[in-house]
Amino acid sequence: MNDATDVQEADVLVVGGGLHGTSSAFHLARRGAKVIVLEADYVARHSSGVNAGGVRTLGRPLPEIPLALMSREMWHGMSDLIGEDGGFVPSGQLKIAETDDELEACRERVALLESRGFTHEKVIDRQTVLELEPALARHVTGGIWVERDGYALPFRTTTAFRLAAQKLGARFLEGAPVRRIEQRGTRWFATTPRGTFSAKQLLVTAGAWSGELAKQVSEPVPVHPEGLMLMVTHRVAPFCRATLGATGRPLSFKQFDNGTVVIGGKLIGIADLANRHGEVDFVRLVKSARTVTDLFPHLRHLGVNRAWAGVEAFTEDELPVISASRKASDLYYSFGYCGSGFQLGPGCGKLVSELMLDGAPSISLDAFAVDRFSRGAVSVAGASQLITH
Ligand SMILES: Cc1cc2nc3c(=O)[nH]c(=O)nc-3n(C[C@H](O)[C@H](O)[C@H](O)COP(=O)(O)OP(=O)(O)OC[C@H]3O[C@@H](n4cnc5c(N)ncnc54)[C@H](O)[C@@H]3O)c2cc1C
Repeated sequence: MNDATDVQEADVLVVGGGLHGTSSAFHLARRGAKVIVLEADYVARHSSGVNAGGVRTLGRPLPEIPLALMSREMWHGMSDLIGEDGGFVPSGQLKIAETDDELEACRERVALLESRGFTHEKVIDRQTVLELEPALARHVTGGIWVERDGYALPFRTTTAFRLAAQKLGARFLEGAPVRRIEQRGTRWFATTPRGTFSAKQLLVTAGAWSGELAKQVSEPVPVHPEGLMLMVTHRVAPFCRATLGATGRPLSFKQFDNGTVVIGGKLIGIADLANRHGEVDFVRLVKSARTVTDLFPHLRHLGVNRAWAGVEAFTEDELPVISASRKASDLYYSFGYCGSGFQLGPGCGKLVSELMLDGAPSISLDAFAVDRFSRGAVSVAGASQLITH
């Protein structure tokens, strides 16, 4: 236990031990920074440890695509990077169209992406969809296929980044909720029940709780929590290889090697920010189960084993905040990943380390600036029309 009167020093304080905190800590430590990560609960307790594990560039809003493509290459080289692959399986991701109109929307989306130089999403016809996934219902009309996407194991990945950061000297304190952040002179101070910590730079990666910390420096951000739900089924003989989504209704779907099927797709449950947990809304889960049995009728009698919800941060324009503060020096933010931040974790940690140590990231983060909301923004015009959940 630290003595509350001692101030412990570092180069960088990271507030929040989810994937964005652990990945940023790893990349910062790799560059030689002395890092302390302060985590209110335990590392990977929230979204980063309980999500669907989708490693998906498919369907991203336009401004996120360069980040997602860069991050995806890191997923493919994860073992070399951190000595563990996070359970990454390059299964491919397939977004299914169920009507001709939906297929037309897929074509328009891919044409728009190609007009901006992005060629990672491919439109495929009904026959190709059924060749890829023969167990799918016959009414499908086609879809979008991204071969290099896949899925990974969230708790394992986040823990792996933590261990890799620790090997490079980063310190993690769990059960250390930061109650107050304050800049005195050129140093930041973070007050926790486990003592006070100080560093020149401070990074907020506190997920759905980040808005509270930004408020403390008079930088309110329109971020709100949602409880996103998932369910996992009993085991069933292998029938599906790709990670699936649907064009016209929410779905994220994958079968693990052990036969269980994980079903989600930004299904909104209940977020209890004050008590730090999410709750399942079973009525809404039933709706999602119906989508699954429409697409895979042979699953009609498959039982659900477990359901849960994690608390995630959403912003008004469905883009994250990855930015230096505009109100205070040496303060940085990386939060608000709107249900899609697992895939971005490895890459955004690197970009954040570049922003903090070099002053300029290797990929522009302008679209994610913290002051875009107050500017009436948005340099991300057209982003929402490109979001297909
Ligand atoms: C059910 C579900 C399914 C999802 N599926 C996918 C998917 O398939 N693919 C995908 O890319 N993304 C998915 N996501 C989204 C993804 O999980 C998140 O975007 C990502 O994990 C966010 O990481 P984070 O580090 O920003 O936040 P978190 O994981 O929430 O971590 C923030 C941490 O900060 C800590 N903290 C908060 N306040 C304080 C404080 N004051 N002091 C100290 N610590 C604090 C919290 O305890 C927490 O551990 C899903 C999310 C959920 C909930």
